[in-house]
Amino acid sequence: MADLAPGAPLTVGFDLDMTLLDTRPGIKATYDAIAAETGVWIDSALAVTRLGPPLEVELAHWFPEERITEVADRYRAMYPHTAVPACLPLPGAREAVEAVRARGGRAVVVTGKHGPNARLHLDHVGIGVDALAGSVWAQEKGAVLRAEGASVYVGDHLGDITGARAADALAVAVATGPFGAEALREAGADVVLDDLTAFPEWLESHLLGEPTRSR
Ligand SMILES: [Mg+2]
Repeated sequence: MADLAPGAPLTVGFDLDMTLLDTRPGIKATYDAIAAETGVWIDSALAVTRLGPPLEVELAHWFPEERITEVADRYRAMYPHTAVPACLPLPGAREAVEAVRARGGRAVVVTGKHGPNARLHLDHVGIGVDALAGSVWAQEKGAVLRAEGASVYVGDHLGDITGARAADALAVAVATGPFGAEALREAGADVVLDDLTAFPEWLESHLLGEPTRSR
């Protein structure tokens, strides 16, 4: 486990979908638009219950392999219009990012989402971050977190815990996505929070060196 060395700059990574933002309404609208355009049935309500893995993983449930690249490109092109305006910050998201930066730390977003669309989301809701990396998942997130020097990664998915582990970062899980607190804990999260409203207080105690605690 990476402890903060005295004087080391604080860098905290955040996942985007269902960690900082409730992207379900916009993503559902995008899948519905793709279904209308292609004539292929997509259970969009189901798809938005399992956000986290790359888009191609979800599309493989609905399209043959040879169409996935084309449909993914179309999805990403529609996304700024169908999804970005419909998404909202989750409770405490803005304050969690601000808590890191208020302590002189860097907040970096590390997400499976196409980077340019992730940037549009953050601009739309007015959450400023110090760096953003897109199109990475699970262990790949770990490589980015390590390169950024992140000692904490905050996410909602089991793949985010994998990413934190791969970077030797503290895995802080929020139960605002597909997994409940118990599943996140069983998957090895170091800290489990109901949502990000609890993050600033947790960060404060973490920086004071108090023992890591779970809800
Ligand atoms: Mg997520």
